Amino acid sequence: MCTTLTRRGCAFTATLDVQYQNNSGLTAGAFTALVNGWDAATEGMWNGPAGHQHYGCCTVEFAVITRIGAGRAASHQINVVAGPQTSFVSALGPGCTTGRWDAQDTGNVAAHESGHLLGLPDEYDYNGPGGAYRNLNPQPADQPQSIMAQTWGNVAALQSHIDALMQGLNASCPWWCCILWPVHRLLDVLRLAVAVPLLVTADLPSPEEVSTVPAKPADPSPRDALEQVRDGRPSSLMDAVRVLTDAGKESNELAQVATGDESPLVRWVGLVVADTLGDVDTVETGLEDDDLRLRVTAAAALARRGQRQVVPVLIEGLGSNQVAIGHPPELLASFAEQALITLSGESISTTDDSPEARTARWQRWADTAE
Ligand SMILES: [Zn+2]
Repeated sequence: MCTTLTRRGCAFTATLDVQYQNNSGLTAGAFTALVNGWDAATEGMWNGPAGHQHYGCCTVEFAVITRIGAGRAASHQINVVAGPQTSFVSALGPGCTTGRWDAQDTGNVAAHESGHLLGLPDEYDYNGPGGAYRNLNPQPADQPQSIMAQTWGNVAALQSHIDALMQGLNASCPWWCCILWPVHRLLDVLRLAVAVPLLVTADLPSPEEVSTVPAKPADPSPRDALEQVRDGRPSSLMDAVRVLTDAGKESNELAQVATGDESPLVRWVGLVVADTLGDVDTVETGLEDDDLRLRVTAAAALARRGQRQVVPVLIEGLGSNQVAIGHPPELLASFAEQALITLSGESISTTDDSPEARTARWQRWADTAE
């Protein structure tokens, strides 16, 4: 199975089995390093600072099995393409699913996508003013924000996520684990204080598989999928991208019409589908869009094709504090910088810079790279 849950005594292990196909243009070595980084970031995010989570009086540890290649039935299948692009999985776990990620996805992006593989939904939409991003699960300002709501800044897997995904996996923690619970919590406190790896695992019953596979709903028609985008939900956006792309050339005209729609979300789907279908003329029309998020989307698609004339649009994007349209939620400035990295073939700035310093650095690159 692709997402499984096993229990040994009072200790659950949730395992994600993921197979990545390299269509990114990276060498085999660089690709291995990339997916190993995603693996480590995902385990780090979902296990949290204590190295494990709690579900009732039980512990939960998250483990990712990372494989390279394609076609293994018992692994989630992820097609990794050149970045930056929108990244998604086709259906929520725990059932086996497919997805498309890009080679510039950060560890936080992989951790967010893995949340979907564990069965969790998105916690954001684009129903703010003018189709702006909204965090639907905001946490207090001094607390980490939900990894299912954003991928930048201080983010974490929340207890509510652990409870929801464990319920989705039909987990039940035996009552007698609560007898051992005070000992476990004491060891947690000691372990966080002195950073010594200790873990109580009562080794009583044999491991037991408790995962289930929900049925996957049927896909809408390309036209209906495009209409559903107007509800502002990222899952609607990604479904539309997938359904239209799967329909191939017959969606091309639909995508062209979409790029003239009044909704920036419909226009975005039009651009992304045209990009995937290789309709560069339609993508280029996005450079004239009133909405900077759309101009950066078009510029990023053209940057992947080596088109240098999009640099001014990307540099404008670097100065933005908006959230990009797409999935998972990423800052527009980060997305624009990823496109500049693709275009330049080098990484000349860091996310630690102020937006002004970052913009100035890339402007200097643009001036000298004429
Ligand atoms: Zn998501």
